[in-house]
Amino acid sequence: MSKTIQSVRGMNDLLPEQVAQWQWVEAAIRDVTASYGYREIRTPIVERSELFYRSIGEETDIVEKEMYTFADRNGDSLTLRPEATASCVRAAIHSGLVHNRSERLWYLGPMFRHERPQKGRYRQFHQFGIEAQGWNGPDVDAEVILLGDRLWKQLGLDDVQLEINTLGSSRSRASYREALQAFLIGHRQDLDENSQRRLESNPLRVLDSKDPQTQVILQNAPDLMSYLAPPEIDNFQRLVELLDAGGVTLKINNRLVRGLDYYTGPVFEWVTDRLGAQNAICAGGRYDGLFAELGGRDVPAAGFACGMERLLELVVQGGLDFKAKVADVWLVLLSADAESAGFTLAESLRDRGLRAICNCGGGSISQQLRRADRSDARFAAVIGEEELRDSHVTIKPLRDRGSQVRIAREDVAEYLLSNREA
Ligand code: ATP
Ligand code: MG
Repeated sequence: MSKTIQSVRGMNDLLPEQVAQWQWVEAAIRDVTASYGYREIRTPIVERSELFYRSIGEETDIVEKEMYTFADRNGDSLTLRPEATASCVRAAIHSGLVHNRSERLWYLGPMFRHERPQKGRYRQFHQFGIEAQGWNGPDVDAEVILLGDRLWKQLGLDDVQLEINTLGSSRSRASYREALQAFLIGHRQDLDENSQRRLESNPLRVLDSKDPQTQVILQNAPDLMSYLAPPEIDNFQRLVELLDAGGVTLKINNRLVRGLDYYTGPVFEWVTDRLGAQNAICAGGRYDGLFAELGGRDVPAAGFACGMERLLELVVQGGLDFKAKVADVWLVLLSADAESAGFTLAESLRDRGLRAICNCGGGSISQQLRRADRSDARFAAVIGEEELRDSHVTIKPLRDRGSQVRIAREDVAEYLLSNREA
């Protein structure tokens, strides 16, 4: 026998039971996004590599070491998308979605990053995200955050905390950058290796370092807030007021910078202490420069991306409040003629919206009933010699107590419909 083939490390199957859980969460996502007027967009999984070099930034973990990049047969450099914001911007520019108007978008799909796989961190993972393109005010920033808050609540999660910060405009950031760089140069020897390198090219990214010693040094670093211009501070305060009006509790965290280069203005993360080291389930903020960076007109935009695997882990830990849809009936078919009659009956049941499973592969009555019992079906419907003769079926309840009944074939649909769970 030849060796079995395994899936790629860090890339997992979702088995039917998990898919039912995902679909329950996805239904909540559809509901909540619709209730804020967001429309779904689906973009390709493969993009030109340049899209990510230009949007995410060359000095980021993603671009430096996590992307699945390859040359296709024409020699073009392509990349499996590590995130979808850049794709949404590219699509909006090219399809004119934001030409003289604004757009609220959401997406959900697989993303790819070559990271060290561990719980909550995979090489193929999924993100749900929203992008509000064409507005620049704190009102839309607040809306983006409120939408997330509503989703967590709808999913029964009451222990996800919001941390926010603001990065300010590129002007105020430039003066902060200088001050921060000067400070960090004084501590160069004690910084972790990545931070030493980024010190020259992108010192703000040092704030994002997870190295404990670097974190200690950063406690005395200059504070970004004191470099912001008054209107930027006003905007941030307005955002905090609107979140308050929307009933969201928040924590201001001035060390919060996002790993991607394209953020400007407010940034935020939703975190939990139930997932160990992988504590962020959702992250986002404002990215006013990205449209122009990708060759479009200046279009202000804000959004977030939420890690589906981490969200599902939280939801499942909390106990899911949903019932998977089960089959209404399993047809036990005891001869070739019974099979023909059963197939006709099953189609007519499906016409009425019922879920019917025909026994396939034959077997004795006890074998077939055992299979029916092991399935999730609520009833078994037996067609044998006797039932064939008088166009009846014998219906046995499989889950609930109750006795078996014999009913005319044309009445089976009615019977099953009236006995469906409330
Ligand atoms: P982290 O600091 O955990 O690496 P990140 O800053 O790289 O996160 P983003 O690019 O902001 O993450 O992505 C948004 C969300 O997507 C994260 O908060 C997380 O929930 C999820 N996510 C990111 N990378 C992965 C991954 N490799 N596996 C599973 N989920 C992920
Ligand atoms: Mg990461």
